[in-house]
Amino acid sequence: MDPPPDASFPTLEELKNYAQAWAKPRGYAISTERSKPGKVWLKCTRGGEYRNRHNLDRTSRQRKSNHKAQGCPFKLVGKLSGITGDWELSTKNGEHNHEPVIDPTALPQHRKLTATQIKDVERMTKAGALPRTIAVALREDPEGNPDFLRRNIYNAKRDLRVKNLAGRTPIVALLDKLEEEGLPFRKRVDNENRITSLIFTHPQSVSFTKRFRNVFVMDCTYKTNKFEMPLCMQMLSAFRTKEEWDGFFNTMQELMKSLTEEKFEENLADLMRDYERYETVTSYVETLLPYKTYFVSAWVDRVTHLGSSVSSRAEGAHKCLKGHIGVSTGNLLTVVDHSRAFMEEQHKEIIGKIANEKVNVPPTLGAFFADIKYKVSGFALGLIEEQYILARRSLATNFTLSTCRDYLKRVFGLPCAHAITEALADDRVLTMHDIHKHWHLVLDENYIEAPTLDTTQAGGNLPMGAPGHQRFYGPPPGPPSNYFGPYGP
Ligand SMILES: [Zn+2]
Ligand SMILES: [Zn+2]
Repeated sequence: MDPPPDASFPTLEELKNYAQAWAKPRGYAISTERSKPGKVWLKCTRGGEYRNRHNLDRTSRQRKSNHKAQGCPFKLVGKLSGITGDWELSTKNGEHNHEPVIDPTALPQHRKLTATQIKDVERMTKAGALPRTIAVALREDPEGNPDFLRRNIYNAKRDLRVKNLAGRTPIVALLDKLEEEGLPFRKRVDNENRITSLIFTHPQSVSFTKRFRNVFVMDCTYKTNKFEMPLCMQMLSAFRTKEEWDGFFNTMQELMKSLTEEKFEENLADLMRDYERYETVTSYVETLLPYKTYFVSAWVDRVTHLGSSVSSRAEGAHKCLKGHIGVSTGNLLTVVDHSRAFMEEQHKEIIGKIANEKVNVPPTLGAFFADIKYKVSGFALGLIEEQYILARRSLATNFTLSTCRDYLKRVFGLPCAHAITEALADDRVLTMHDIHKHWHLVLDENYIEAPTLDTTQAGGNLPMGAPGHQRFYGPPPGPPSNYFGPYGP
């Protein structure tokens, strides 16, 4: 438990840091006993007497175990030199009256996080990291102090919360924050000026929404786990074996995949007949019938849904976001922080994928794809390539394509084997005009001009896939500036 050698430092701060760092591996810690301009007295943390300032006895005192004062005589002095302007450290008493601690974590002075570590806590907390994750990251930092306890992270988080609120209520701080960080939001207040609803988003999400505006998937389920369970259990109990359940599941899939209204009626009649004996099943299917235009291919595939005909992707994103926000004990302010970090992460991910697709395409694509390669999403390229292979086969062999249902063009905005056959016969190659703009690898939000909605026809309320909502594709390409493509808007 040697005292530090005499030394001088440009600042008092550095002098104290040095003395503390010296004490740490030697099993003690120092604190400031008193100071005056140009001079400071440092003592061992076990120095001085415990002063019972508030006249508390051992039972009423809150911090019982933390008082370690036992009159250790160890003392250092720091003095500002009038000649050099440096702070000079010297030892006044180098003796301790106690044993060194076996681990620095026993002394609060050595558990303190460094300023950089506190900044890291703030950064990681904003990203939604849990204290144990933060702890692992902080201990890996070779510059930081590894001898903290989890408690120190909780304290740092609490201090940050207090700092961020700066005397405001969380909701006021939240509104200020949305304003300051330029996150678009709308709020509704009641007549006592209390907030009743709040919606916010990220500017980049807005720009993605404008760019990919053709299909909008919303997760409108509310507590599905809670409310759908009884239904699911009821359905399950209708079947005795897994085979029976699987059979029903496949029949339902078949029904949903009905390509025409006639086929649907046929499949439905079959199902009702097959499951006559199962009251639960037939009545369940009957409750679904009013919504057939939302989930049966015969209706759903009348819309250019570009492959997004189910909400699972939105539900997945929602789950992901919830996981990111973490336990719901956080207030709205932390929800905004975590959502923001999540959204920014996702945006980066998407831009990265697009950037990747701009340089990586399947090497099999030949001259027919030369004008669209690197400019169209890999998913779309894959679908077109399948059709191209079919088209080539029909031209080279006696293989005949099935009747054109215009499916690929209508649903995905992509050329089908029939269209490709025609193009090949005319010696044409694919151009960007053959591909719906949704698949173009461009992020410019103005890439597709705002569509003009025909509100006279839609009545505002037609279910998806109803005849009134069917889209017909516009005229062939015009000048590029106001051009929507053959399949849009
Ligand atoms: Zn001591
Ligand atoms: Zn076709």
